[in-house]
Amino acid sequence: MKKRILALAAVCLLGSFSAFAAPTGVDTTVKVGLYYGSGALDQAAFSAVAPINAGGAVIPAWTFAYAKSTGGDGGVLVTGDGTQLLTWQGGMVAHADNNIITVNEKEYRGSIIFLASEGKITVINQLSVDGYLYGVLPSETYPSWPAEALKAQAVVSRSYVLSSGRGRHSAQGFDVCNTTHCQVYSGNAKEAASTNAAVDATIGQVCTHNGAIVNTVFSASNGGYIEDSVNVWGGSTPYFVSKKDDFEKTDEIKGMVWDATVTNDTIQSKLSASGVNIGAVKGLEILEKAASGRVTKLRIIGDNGEYIAERERCRTLLGLKSQLYTIESAGSGSQISAISAGGNSTVADFFVRSADTTAHLGNSIWTVDGSGNKVQLSANASQAVWSDNGFVIHGRGNGHGIGMSQWGSEYMAEAGHSYLEILQYYYPGISIETVNQ
Ligand SMILES: [Zn+2]
Repeated sequence: MKKRILALAAVCLLGSFSAFAAPTGVDTTVKVGLYYGSGALDQAAFSAVAPINAGGAVIPAWTFAYAKSTGGDGGVLVTGDGTQLLTWQGGMVAHADNNIITVNEKEYRGSIIFLASEGKITVINQLSVDGYLYGVLPSETYPSWPAEALKAQAVVSRSYVLSSGRGRHSAQGFDVCNTTHCQVYSGNAKEAASTNAAVDATIGQVCTHNGAIVNTVFSASNGGYIEDSVNVWGGSTPYFVSKKDDFEKTDEIKGMVWDATVTNDTIQSKLSASGVNIGAVKGLEILEKAASGRVTKLRIIGDNGEYIAERERCRTLLGLKSQLYTIESAGSGSQISAISAGGNSTVADFFVRSADTTAHLGNSIWTVDGSGNKVQLSANASQAVWSDNGFVIHGRGNGHGIGMSQWGSEYMAEAGHSYLEILQYYYPGISIETVNQ
C-alpha cells in the first residue's frame, strides 16, 4: 500500500499541473433553478437589507415584495402594502445593492430571475460560479472534511457546472437545478468557513483535457472500484477508467454496504411504465458483469416474455443505489427452474413417478450422460434467481462510480494527498487550468 501511494505521488509530481493556463471566453455565470417545474410558485416573497432594483423599480431596504403570476407568461410585482410596482412578460430580474437577496426566507448571493410561465413563477438564482460553489460544497461534502478533499470537490463541482451542467435545464430557463440531479445547492444557508476557503483557494481552477473543460462526474462512493463510463452510459472517455480504488474504505462508510428488497410487482410496474410488458416477473439473471463486478446485463424473466436491461438500466430499473450488486431470492430455500411446454416455471421439490412408485428427488435431479456417467442437475444449473416473493439485493457504493469518489477523496486527503493528486487519481491524464474570472 505504501509503495502504491509513493508511486502515485511521483506520477503526480511529474504530471500535467505545471501550466495553469487561462482558457478564454468561458462564461462563469451560472443560473440555478430554485423553484421550477411542479415546484414553481404562485408567488415568491423577496427582500434584502439593502435596496433592490427589480425590473427597474426600486424596493427599499427591509421591504417585502411579491412576484406573482398573472396567468400565461405574465407577472406582477407588488410590495407588502399592496402597491403594484410593475407588470412584466416572461422574466424579471431583481438584484440587491449588497448582492444578497432573501427569497421565501432563504438567502442567496447574486440576482434572482422571476420567470412567469404557464401561470406559475419559476425562481432562478443567477450568480458567479464561485458564489454558486459556496452554496454547493456544504451540501455535497462535510465541512469537517480535510481541506484537500474540499478543494478537490471545489474544482470538480466547478468543472462539472461549467461543462455538462451548462444548460442542462435550458428548456426551463436555467443551467442547473438545486438537487442531486445536478448538484445540491443551498444558497447561503449552509455556508461554512472551511468550504468557502476551499473555493477561494482554487478560484477559477477547472479540470481540462485537450483544452476543454472536463465533465467531472463524481459519486458518493464507488464501492471500492472506479468504473469506466462505457459500463454505465456507453461510450469511452480517456479519463474515465476502470480500476480498483486504493483509498476508499467502503466497508467503513455508513450506508455504503447495503441490502435492498425489490418486489416482483415493482419491477413489473417499472417495466410497464416504460412500455415493456413481460407479465408477472418470475426471475432475475445477471448475464454480464464488468471487471468491477458492476452488473452490465440483467435478464428479467416474466411469465409472458423477458427483458434484457443493460448498463445503468440494471440499476435504475430496480431502483438501486448502485450497479454493484448480487441477487438472492427473498423466498425460502433453493429452487429449480423447469422448462415446460408452456414456458418457465419454478418448483421447490421434484418427484418422479413410475407405474407403481413415486420417488422424492428433493431439489436435485440426476441424469446420465452418453458415457453412462451420473450428472447432477442442481439449482446452480441455472444462474437465474427465481422468486415470487421478491429479491434481496446485496450492494456496495452509492452512485455510478465513475470519476471521483467523494468518500475516496476524503480517505486520500487523510492519507496526506493534495487535491491535485486526488484529481489526477480519479481523472487520470487531465490538466488543471484557470478560467478567466
Ligand atoms: Zn438538474
